[in-house]
Amino acid sequence: MAANTQEKDFKISIIGAGAAGIGMAILFKKMGIKNVEILERDSVGESFKKWPKETRFISPSFTSNFFGLPDLNAITPDTSPAYNLGAEHPTGLEYAKYLENCVEHFDIKVKTGVEVSSLDKIKSKYIIWAAGEYIYPDVNTFEGIELGLHFSQIKSYKDFKEDEYVVIGAYEAGMDIAIYLLNKGKQITLIDGSDPLGSITSDSSTSLSPYTRDKFKEVYAKIDKKNLNYIKNTRVEKIEYTNNKNIKEYIVTLENGKVVKSNNKPIICTGFEGGTHKLLKDKFEWNGARPLLTDKDESTITPNLFLIGSHIVHDKAVFCFIYKFRQRFAIVAEEIVRRENLKTDQISEILENYKNNNFYLSDLSGCCQDCSC
Ligand SMILES: Cc1cc2nc3c(=O)[nH]c(=O)nc-3n(C[C@H](O)[C@H](O)[C@H](O)COP(=O)(O)OP(=O)(O)OC[C@H]3O[C@@H](n4cnc5c(N)ncnc54)[C@H](O)[C@@H]3O)c2cc1C
Repeated sequence: MAANTQEKDFKISIIGAGAAGIGMAILFKKMGIKNVEILERDSVGESFKKWPKETRFISPSFTSNFFGLPDLNAITPDTSPAYNLGAEHPTGLEYAKYLENCVEHFDIKVKTGVEVSSLDKIKSKYIIWAAGEYIYPDVNTFEGIELGLHFSQIKSYKDFKEDEYVVIGAYEAGMDIAIYLLNKGKQITLIDGSDPLGSITSDSSTSLSPYTRDKFKEVYAKIDKKNLNYIKNTRVEKIEYTNNKNIKEYIVTLENGKVVKSNNKPIICTGFEGGTHKLLKDKFEWNGARPLLTDKDESTITPNLFLIGSHIVHDKAVFCFIYKFRQRFAIVAEEIVRRENLKTDQISEILENYKNNNFYLSDLSGCCQDCSC
């Protein structure tokens, strides 16, 4: 039975044409829902285009789709960055190309150059916030953080031409830079409030990836050990800057009172604050920096406003990777078609397809269990 979904008078606006926004729009397209627009401030895959040139995906891409295990970095069950790009660990630019190819292949409409600063101007019945976090660096973690160079401002690691650097934050981004610079023979002080190198958990959101660990082991085996000063389980309290007789110095004070000095801007890899928090503060209830969501990923206080992408957190389940948050697209879509009472064979088939391909996660009870070995 094919119902004409166009008879229904409702519109969906998706804010952001990143992995989440495009993946969501493709799902609606597959379901036959046509009144969907993506509003994007820059261009398709912009966050990925802004990554430092040398940064690669840590989650591997592999052409495993047709055995029921879609490529970990795919945004639909039937596409694969490994196939599309011929890369296992794509760069940001390569991945943006994959997103652009998806937009073209599925004929997704994206209005670029539209920056959404308030939802009040959007007249659509449903709004899906997919604006990510990359362009919103975390600037509140400690005093003087703005004196450093945030990861999102780095164009290429090749721009680090001096002999020594302080890197604050030793999770994926900080470790990626540290590995690159150690490889180039530079002296690195790597500081973290916990011990990412020393702890392994079964959740990629809280543990360094095997890809990064392998790269670290490789570089560590060949460097002069004096080149790495790893200060773990110690938070940075502040950064100060002095310029005495043209000798500039950055003074990093740690919580134990010790200081680390550097002539170069400390590299800040402490994460992102999120545009959601910045722009939609009054549209969500908050648990610290995390927006509270219903079990359908809708704001608990603003009806018909959904959140998709790396901001999704439910209890201990953190959806900060693509292979995680893509499993919530169908939850949101299913809820919207239920509210609109849309029942077509096409919709049922697509939902079934997403479920069969591990693109549908509603039961979160198993999310935080440890692996048995
Ligand atoms: C260095 C690094 C490495 C990573 N490696 C991996 C990895 O290996 N595997 C993995 O799964 N994930 C990885 N991630 C995380 C991954 O990049 C994010 O989870 C993903 O980009 C989130 O997708 P998104 O669509 O939610 O946001 P984004 O991809 O950031 O897309 C958001 C889009 O919204 C637009 N936008 C923002 N604000 C507005 C506004 N106000 N109005 C209109 N448009 C707006 C932006 O321009 C952007 O195009 C990595 C992240 C970083 C920083």
